[in-house]
Amino acid sequence: MIIHPYVHHPFLYMDSASTTPVCHAAVESMMQYLDTGYGNPNSVHAFGKEAKAAVEVARHEVADLIGAEPEHIVFGPSATGINRFLCGWFGGAVIASNMEHSSVRTVVEKLHLFGAEIMPPKASPEEAPVTKEDVDRFLGPGDGYDMVSVMMINNETGVVNDVKGIAEACHTRKTLFHTDATAAAGAVPIDVKDLDCDFMTIASHKMYGPKGIAALYVKSETAIEDFKKKTYTGTPNVPAIVGFGTACEQAAARLEAQRRILGVATDNDYERLAASFLKALETELGEGSFALNAPKADGKHFKKILNVRFPGVDAESLVLLCSEKGLMISAGAACESNEQKPSQTLLAMGLTPEEARSSVRVSFSRWTTSGEAWESAAILAECVRTLKGIGSAV
Ligand code: PMP
Repeated sequence: MIIHPYVHHPFLYMDSASTTPVCHAAVESMMQYLDTGYGNPNSVHAFGKEAKAAVEVARHEVADLIGAEPEHIVFGPSATGINRFLCGWFGGAVIASNMEHSSVRTVVEKLHLFGAEIMPPKASPEEAPVTKEDVDRFLGPGDGYDMVSVMMINNETGVVNDVKGIAEACHTRKTLFHTDATAAAGAVPIDVKDLDCDFMTIASHKMYGPKGIAALYVKSETAIEDFKKKTYTGTPNVPAIVGFGTACEQAAARLEAQRRILGVATDNDYERLAASFLKALETELGEGSFALNAPKADGKHFKKILNVRFPGVDAESLVLLCSEKGLMISAGAACESNEQKPSQTLLAMGLTPEEARSSVRVSFSRWTTSGEAWESAAILAECVRTLKGIGSAV
């Protein structure tokens, strides 16, 4: 447990899928550009040149993390802004999966009248991952769509989609492929060339960088200049871009160290953390008293994100009670948690509205330990018991 300056008791932050703390290296690298390095990168004098150089270093760092060339990276103010811009760009010729982040889904829904389509929902969490076959079936023989958007890892459930297969399905029809890798970047290795995607969105604040800065990878050399002019005109947010770059560099180093020293491909051993957490929940609440909203098949669930359903418990009340007890979790995505509607993502994987309303998300960070995972489960279980009227909260 840690003490936070604004939360006056020990707490456990298990909501990294909403946002992560900013790593110290990123904070340090930003300080110079908040202070003396205030030049405008668009200025031609020495101060401007220095700021521009810092932005270009960051562009390299971001590109390196996803195996891209720096010239193919465009900065934008948020993943939401980038996704909306990109889907709007393609107008009615876009399809998206039913489990996309709202920044993709809502734009595609609005463009429905012009031909844009959302793929059908799935029958159960077991079928949730979007596959090459799903896209093949949906696109059919024609080439009527310009772009397909399917996220790499779902930010509410950790469901892993087959982006490489989907890219293949798109390219056989000359359709472009966008993947929102916001929930994946920094936590798993990514190589845009191997995945062969045409566009990829990543966001700094999901990978230990500052908020309000994101990046779009654009494969096409002709499209990139246009995107550069239209996504981030005006004065770039130099400190945020610099911090984002450092966060990417740190994430790449962490992934490499994890691979070399522990032999795991991710930035923490999420399989182990999830096992501790679920075992503790089972010990506290008993078998069958909760369900994991995720497919069981190997490689289809990224266990950094656990979406857990407690039948008969109201998720919002559970999140608030947990917060009082020092455990930070969420019900659905943070950007949608003010809405009273049940999570669209959970409905799209076959859950009923009632089941969706009794589900919470627990998401680990690169620094979470098994002990913390266990302790979180104990607090959560205690709060579940309290809400069910069978015991008192810790
Ligand atoms: N896509 C995904 C998968 C996300 O998880 C989020 C944030 N919840 C976004 C897009 C939006 O990111 P941002 O906060 O940078 O707008």
